[in-house]
Amino acid sequence: MEEKYTGKSIFKGVAIGRIMIYGKKEQPVKREKIEDTDAEVRRYEAAKEKAIADLGELYEDAVKKVGKDNAEIFNVHAMLLQDDDFNDSIHNMIESQKVNAEYAAAVTGENFSKMFAEMDDDYFKARSADMKDIAERLVKVLSGREDKTVFDQPVIIAADDLMPSETVQLDKDKVIAFVTRYGSSNSHTAILARTMNIPALINIPVDPSWDGQMAIVDGHTGTLYLDPEASTLAEEQKKLDQDLEQRRLLQELKGKPNVTLDGREINLFANIGGPKDLVSVLQNDAGGIGLFRSEFLYIGRDELPTEEEQFQAYKQVAETMAGRLVVIRTLDIGADKKADYLHLEPEANPALGFRAIRICLTRPEIFRTQLRALFRASAFGNIAIMYPMITSLEEIRQIREIADSVKKELDDAGVPYKKDIQQGIMIETPAAAIMTDVLAPEVDFFSIGTNDLTQYTLAMDRQNDKLDAFYQPHHPAILRLIQTTIENGHKGGAWVGICGELGADTTLTETFIQMGVDELSVSPAMVLPVREAIRKSHAKRV
Ligand code: PEP
Ligand code: MG
Repeated sequence: MEEKYTGKSIFKGVAIGRIMIYGKKEQPVKREKIEDTDAEVRRYEAAKEKAIADLGELYEDAVKKVGKDNAEIFNVHAMLLQDDDFNDSIHNMIESQKVNAEYAAAVTGENFSKMFAEMDDDYFKARSADMKDIAERLVKVLSGREDKTVFDQPVIIAADDLMPSETVQLDKDKVIAFVTRYGSSNSHTAILARTMNIPALINIPVDPSWDGQMAIVDGHTGTLYLDPEASTLAEEQKKLDQDLEQRRLLQELKGKPNVTLDGREINLFANIGGPKDLVSVLQNDAGGIGLFRSEFLYIGRDELPTEEEQFQAYKQVAETMAGRLVVIRTLDIGADKKADYLHLEPEANPALGFRAIRICLTRPEIFRTQLRALFRASAFGNIAIMYPMITSLEEIRQIREIADSVKKELDDAGVPYKKDIQQGIMIETPAAAIMTDVLAPEVDFFSIGTNDLTQYTLAMDRQNDKLDAFYQPHHPAILRLIQTTIENGHKGGAWVGICGELGADTTLTETFIQMGVDELSVSPAMVLPVREAIRKSHAKRV
């Protein structure tokens, strides 16, 4: 039976596939009363045969991928499934207690697992986890849920919530949509969905029992369909085809300049989280990278990335972009972007807390390592460095001092780097925006971070889903600060871009151009739609 849930869309598009519940694999098995126990035993036997056949296939596949020795575990599981004691226990439970096969298998698995765990023999102890595993396999086959291996196929990830550190660890080639209960449109997970160009919904009452079910995510209407009917499937497939057609049409804009009707050219760059996003940058024909969120190299791991690891990542991006500008933002960690190994203390107001440049200036050893990696990589392409969360001139002076001393260290060691490397700052606090006349002469460029600028100007936590209705990036206060920043930047000799999500809002493209913006940096999938909007705009106000 089709079920329908309406939530809030945070990125458009349609995805059709199976759901994978993220992080909650174990599901309670319900105990049900059975009348026809003979039929239930037969159902169990059929499921067991299927599970054994599945394991045979898994074994063959694993031999090819990981070798005979490592594949052996699947043979062991197939043998355990044929164990007389295990099967007698399940048959007996079904017949004597008149319970469903799923329940009998789960309880028997649990009992045998405990029994093995208590044995002295190490071999049997090790079988404890295997008993649970085979019971879980039986329950999956019995309840018609697909085995985990199906998730080698693309899946719709469903979860209560997804932290950026979790999202970043997902295999991006296998994820076709996100569905969560919590989260907000301005969270970093939402930004990741946009970077990945996949539909995403929030405010959906995700239930663990959906694991493995067929579903459709419609990011146009904010709807999730579970077990869709044929008519829904046909309708949504049509939408998916239309989206693909739209994308194909946009492809025709590849290679065309970002020029307005009256001849003004705008730089149109892409935002990325790491080298993995480069394919999409090139596919969508971005003219450079306007924001490389380097903190994604730091999260979802157990220790700081080394200078060499960072150097390799920055170098790869610079080389791939082949001389086009690559703006790399220094570590912007804190608030929702966490790294446990930094041991940052919990704070009452993390968005207003110890984060980004504040951490870097307090712990200069972390900052210096990153700067060394950045300067070294600058010898391999057109890298620019950008500093986040700036609020004052003093911070810029402190940064400059550290950066100069790192440069001197490299000079002394004879390590090459780009001597005229551009250095700029994010304008994402009202303090910085208001002080842009003073800050502009100190830097090469400004990049306006409208996500945080909106949060701090409107005093609204961008992570709080209750505020989505109030969070107004088109608020005149924001537009005024953007205008001021552009004017002051130009007066002080700095070029000005926008790298927050508002930069991709095509209803504002003409406004930004008329304000005089030099560059827009957007998620890769938005490059061609924004190019289309630029080419329909007038730079001069008429
Ligand atoms: C911003 O604040 O607008 C921005 C681009 O940075 P982030 O979203 O990573 O905070
Ligand atoms: Mg920001």
